Amino acid sequence: MFTLPSLPWAPNALAPMISEETINFHYGKHHQTYVNNLNQLLEGSGKERLSLEELITTTRGGLFNNAAQVWNHSFYWESLTPDAPPQPSGKLLQMIIDQYGSFEDFKKTFSQLAVSLFGSGWAWLVLALEGTLDIVQTSNADNPLTRGQKPLLACDVWEHAYYVDYRNKRAEYVDNFFKIINWNKANERLS
Ligand code: MN
Repeated sequence: MFTLPSLPWAPNALAPMISEETINFHYGKHHQTYVNNLNQLLEGSGKERLSLEELITTTRGGLFNNAAQVWNHSFYWESLTPDAPPQPSGKLLQMIIDQYGSFEDFKKTFSQLAVSLFGSGWAWLVLALEGTLDIVQTSNADNPLTRGQKPLLACDVWEHAYYVDYRNKRAEYVDNFFKIINWNKANERLS
C-alpha cells in the first residue's frame, strides 16, 4: 500500500509564496486523498505489486488518475524549496540558454504555458526523447511519463494549488512559483 511521503520542508516554509494554509489543504487533504483512493482502488485489482510508475504507464481511469496524482504531487513538493537560487546553474542552465536564448525567455515561455492551460492540469519542464528540453502542458492527472519524457520540474495549476493565496490570479501564483523552484533538484533529475 502507498503512503503519503513527508514534505521536504516545514508547511510554513514557502510562505508567503505558498501559505501554510494552502500546504495543509493541498498536501494534507488533496494529496492524502489521492493516496487513500489509490489504495482503495488497488485492493483486489491484481495490480497491488505494481510501482507508481508502472501504474502510470499501464493503467487508465481511476487507477491512472490517482496513481498519477500521487506521483505528480510528490514530484511537485520536491520541485520546491525555500532556499531557491534565482535561476538554475550548470548543465541545465546551459541547455536552457542553448534552446530558449536566455533564462528570462525560458521563464516567459514556461509561465505563458502554465497560465494558458485551460482547466486543471500541470506545466512541466521535461527532457524529451530527443535529449532536448521541452515545456509541456498536461490536463488533469496526466503526466509526461506516459509520453516517454523525463520530468525535470512541475508546476501544479489546478485551482487548489493557488486559490487560497491568489484567488483567480494564476499568473501571480506562477510568477511567485519561480521564486521557490528547487533548481538543484531539476539539475539532479537531468543526470
Ligand atoms: Mn494539486
